[in-house]
Amino acid sequence: MFDYLIVGAGFAGSVLAERLARISDKSVLLVDRRSHIGGNAYDHYNEHGILVHKYGPHIFHTNSRDVFEYLSQFTEWRPYEHRVLASVDGQLLPMPINLDTLNKLYGLSMNSFEAEKFLETMAEKKQEIKTSEDVVVSRIGRELYEKFFRNYTRKQWNMDPSELDAAVTARVPVRTNRDSRYFSDTYQAMPLHGYTRMFENMLDHPNIKILLNANYREIGKSIAYRQLIYTGPIDEFFDFRYGELPYRSLRFKHETLNKPNFQTAAVVNYPNEHLYTRVTEFKYLTGQEHPKTSVVYEFPQAEGDPYYPVPRPENNAMYKKYKELADSTTGVHFVGRLATYKYYNMDQVTGQALATFKRITVAKHHAVGAALHDRLYTSIPVQTAASGTALAEREDAAA
Ligand code: FAD
Ligand code: UDP
Repeated sequence: MFDYLIVGAGFAGSVLAERLARISDKSVLLVDRRSHIGGNAYDHYNEHGILVHKYGPHIFHTNSRDVFEYLSQFTEWRPYEHRVLASVDGQLLPMPINLDTLNKLYGLSMNSFEAEKFLETMAEKKQEIKTSEDVVVSRIGRELYEKFFRNYTRKQWNMDPSELDAAVTARVPVRTNRDSRYFSDTYQAMPLHGYTRMFENMLDHPNIKILLNANYREIGKSIAYRQLIYTGPIDEFFDFRYGELPYRSLRFKHETLNKPNFQTAAVVNYPNEHLYTRVTEFKYLTGQEHPKTSVVYEFPQAEGDPYYPVPRPENNAMYKKYKELADSTTGVHFVGRLATYKYYNMDQVTGQALATFKRITVAKHHAVGAALHDRLYTSIPVQTAASGTALAEREDAAA
């Protein structure tokens, strides 16, 4: 009899396995239907000895000191600031759009003040910002929207930005200074020895048993456990009772080239050309030195592993129905990007999992008495930063 069966060995499942085993002394069986731990953040050395991310580029960034400190128990870090170029009108230009993007694109030499004015003249006034089109067009106008956002989004989601929640394109800022970093977060770094090594360190505990190549739907009934933590797709858990929640998938084409370097940035986005959205060269991310170089092309598609929830009103409404079902299902906790149908980054999922652990143990605390109290509150990170992670936790707490 295990105290917890945890379905999914990605960030959500692994953080909870670690906390429950180490802090609460619970026995945990962690299962994943894939052949490895780490979920979509899994990385490995390919046949040429180059560290690659099997499921596309994963760059760690967060504003949450607590999340960063929590993960720092399991890895050292390599400072890394991510930079992306977009192929537009025959040039490779900084993305997010910044002062240099505008000056290069239009052959100008504006300063930040002038660039802000320039964007104001381009922007379209909107009464209400609801969609991914609204959010961009109201900031930079239709021309830049068409060049940088519209076609990329249509390729990535098979949907026009006007059909997607504002939050999707709002992930990418627009700047009028010369900051060329993709993210603005306080903490930006890569696990020094890779994500998989970090997960191995997290899960290295005698209370944790791991079962790979095991689908919960097939083996769940033959395992004895007290509580379930589920991090897979929520619609699948409930046998698609209210219909299938759309998840966008990708096909990854990995390639190794017989030269030390392929492109001039870690990631090059192709909004308007090709069937792929972006090309990532891993050595930029990992800092690895090697005479060859490995890249991955991302081809969006409908079928395949679920990678992205699709944030739009009708999907959010269907998720709400599943969530009500989840809330009335005792003994099961739904955590992570697929189980809570949220377009979360790794740090947000980590924050959500830590919040879930807190909730589980606090509920338990009320049931078992005060003895655990001090231990819990001196060992669980408490969210303080104003960040996406804080939002994840607030939503979670509200739930
Ligand atoms: P997952 O990693 O999806 O883990 C869920 C696990 O559950 C999977 O391993 C799956 O096999 C398993 N599972 C599901 N159903 C079952 C079942 N029935 N039985 C057994 N196992 C099951 N985030 C960032 O912060 N920075 C980035 O740069 C970044 N880049 C990304 C790039 C891509 C292409 C993608 C797709 C995502 C990216 N993310 C990034 C997001 C990041 O991958 C997620 O936030 C994070 O991995 C989610 O963790 P999770 O545990 O919720 O889900
Ligand atoms: N996006 C875009 N053009 C770009 C980069 C991003 O239109 O060059 C839009 C697109 O809709 C994308 C979203 O912004 O899905 C979020 O981009 P992000 O890079 O955060 O996507 P992820 O890394 O999660 O795939």
